[in-house]
Amino acid sequence: MTTRIALPTLVCALALTVAGCGAGAAERTARRPAEPPVGAPQAPRAPAKAPGPDSACPDVTASLRPTGGLPAPTALPSGSTMAMFRQRGYIKAGIDQSSYPFGYVDPSDNELDGFDIDLLREVAKAIFGDDRPGRIQFRVLRNEDRAIAVARGDVDIVAETMTINCERKQSVEFSSVYFNAGQRMLVQKDGKAENADYQGGLPALPRGMRVCSVPGSTSLALLRRDAPQVRPVEGDTWADCLVKLQQGEVDTVTTDDTILAGLQSQDPIFTRVVGPSITLEPYGMAIAKDRVDFVRFVNAVLERLRTNGRWKAMYADHLGTSLADTVPEPPAAVYRDNP
Ligand code: GLU
Repeated sequence: MTTRIALPTLVCALALTVAGCGAGAAERTARRPAEPPVGAPQAPRAPAKAPGPDSACPDVTASLRPTGGLPAPTALPSGSTMAMFRQRGYIKAGIDQSSYPFGYVDPSDNELDGFDIDLLREVAKAIFGDDRPGRIQFRVLRNEDRAIAVARGDVDIVAETMTINCERKQSVEFSSVYFNAGQRMLVQKDGKAENADYQGGLPALPRGMRVCSVPGSTSLALLRRDAPQVRPVEGDTWADCLVKLQQGEVDTVTTDDTILAGLQSQDPIFTRVVGPSITLEPYGMAIAKDRVDFVRFVNAVLERLRTNGRWKAMYADHLGTSLADTVPEPPAAVYRDNP
């Protein structure tokens, strides 16, 4: 069951030291006018570009075509990876719990929730016929550990705002694209970084700007590559970067617009997403390269979500109008084979 969070609760749950949890928040409310949502009309977007390593890898998002339709849970092909999971009774999934609204703990019931969590529940339902507790063994993974955890078999699948790129495809296979995000910046409202020039992308950021990102993320990699003039600051998690921004330890946070929308919604009075999208970040679920049948199966699950309205319902439930005024169409799948 998905429940959207009462935002003040989540702010306090994530960051007990954040000024936004106390009386100071009310003072800021009084002083500052309401801001439009993140997805409100803004300056023209710079052309989205793929992160550097992918420019030599044009078909990077092409995945493996489903084999026919989705079989019933009781009719999984014998000897398949899915039949093995069904026999075992659970799947092991890598997730994040600080990437609201994709993967987070809902403080109202202490349950994991989010777009990525719902995707995994749909995969579990397709295998077991239900997603009751215990069907998914969740393992929280740092960004930098996602691919290696899949490749080593520590988890069967990762759903964690994970961008499909060439480097990662050396070690894991990806599902078809289930979400298209883009890297942007989060700043303090009325802070000195609010009026910097963001139209020129990372190379145009001011010298010495303190920019928070998380190790193992495409955002940090791009920041190090394209903005040698700034000072990257590593947060343990995205929530950690938000706290650093609120406490003035950094000037900006950079990551995907999806994650920034979640951070901004936890402190809408004090923070603002700025600048155009500077990359295209196509999300896929990561699966071991030798589990080709499971990749095709997950892609069949995604096909069903695209066509039966569930993807749009999940988008509306988790993203609302934080990124766009209306719910977009799900990304179309691209396949590289014909089994
Ligand atoms: N989509 C990103 C990745 O897979 C995570 C967020 C970010 O890099 O900012 O690395």
